[in-house]
Amino acid sequence: MIPHRAQRPAVTVRSGGRRALWPGAKIPFMNAPTPGSRVVRSGLLMRPTTARLAALLLVVALATGLAATVVSASSLPPCRVADVTTAQRAYADWSRTVLDTTYRVTSAYAPGDLRSTRNAGLNGSHRVRAFVIADLRAMARAARAAGARLAVQSAYRSYSTQRSTFAYWSRVSGYAAALRSSARAGHSEHQLGTTVDFRSYGGSAPWYYRDWGTTRAGTWLRNNAWKYGFVMSYPRGKTSVTCYSYEPWHYRYVGRATAAAIHASGLAPREYLWRQQTAPKPTPTPVATPKPTPVEPTPAG
Ligand SMILES: [Zn+2]
Repeated sequence: MIPHRAQRPAVTVRSGGRRALWPGAKIPFMNAPTPGSRVVRSGLLMRPTTARLAALLLVVALATGLAATVVSASSLPPCRVADVTTAQRAYADWSRTVLDTTYRVTSAYAPGDLRSTRNAGLNGSHRVRAFVIADLRAMARAARAAGARLAVQSAYRSYSTQRSTFAYWSRVSGYAAALRSSARAGHSEHQLGTTVDFRSYGGSAPWYYRDWGTTRAGTWLRNNAWKYGFVMSYPRGKTSVTCYSYEPWHYRYVGRATAAAIHASGLAPREYLWRQQTAPKPTPTPVATPKPTPVEPTPAG
C-alpha cells in the first residue's frame, strides 16, 4: 500500500505512472464466486463452466458431508468494499490474517513489539514487529551482497495514520482511484507491523518508477524475498484476486515456511491465505475398535 504524503511528496511527478493506468477506475467485482451458500444461489451470474464446476463441487461436498466448508474453500470472495472484521484477528495470527477491501482489523490493533528497521541494518524511522527483524536483516544483507541494496520506504502504519493516508489519496485521486492503491483504515497490511514498502538504496520512492519491479532491487526481491519469509502481496496481473493494483515494492512477512508454500503454490498471498482459512479440517481417520486379544491359557506350573 502506498503511504501518506509525508512519505510520498511530489504528486505531480506521478503523471504517466501507475495511477494513470486506472483513470477513474472502479474496483471491479471479480468473476470468482462468493463464499459459502451464496455460490449456489448466485449460480446464474456465473459463467457456465464455473457454474458446472460449482455444481459438481456441491454434489461431491454433499456426498462427503462437508458442503459448506468445501464450497467456501474453493471460493475467493469478491473485492467488495465493506468493513468486516477478519477471522484471524489476533496478534498471533499475523501470518494468516486476511486483509483486503472487505476484511479488516479494528482500530485497537496495534502490535506492542514494534522495533526500528535500523535493527535490521536498514534505514530507521520505520518499524516492524520484533520477530520480523532477523529475516529482514538477512534479506537486506543478501540483497546488498547481490548488488541490489534495499532501503525501507514505509513499514508499520497505525489505524489513524492509514485513515489520513486514505483520506489524502481520496482528495488527490478521487475515491475510486484511491481504492486501487491505498487501503482504508483497518484494511492495510501495514497495520499488521509485518509489511514493508521497499525502495532502491539511494533511489526515490518506488512508485515514481515506470516499474520498480524491473530495477535491480525490485528484481532481486521478486526472485528471492520468499526465501527470507516475505511475499509480494500485489503481483502484476493479479488485481482481480488481490483487490489492488500491482505493487512490486510491497512485501509482507509471513515467515519462511509459509512464504515458501505461497511461492510454490503460484497463488497470490490473498488467494493462498483465504484457502488456508477456509480449507476443511482433515477428516479424522477412522480408528479400528481394538478387539480383545485371545489370551492363551497359561499352563499351570
Ligand atoms: Zn505497502
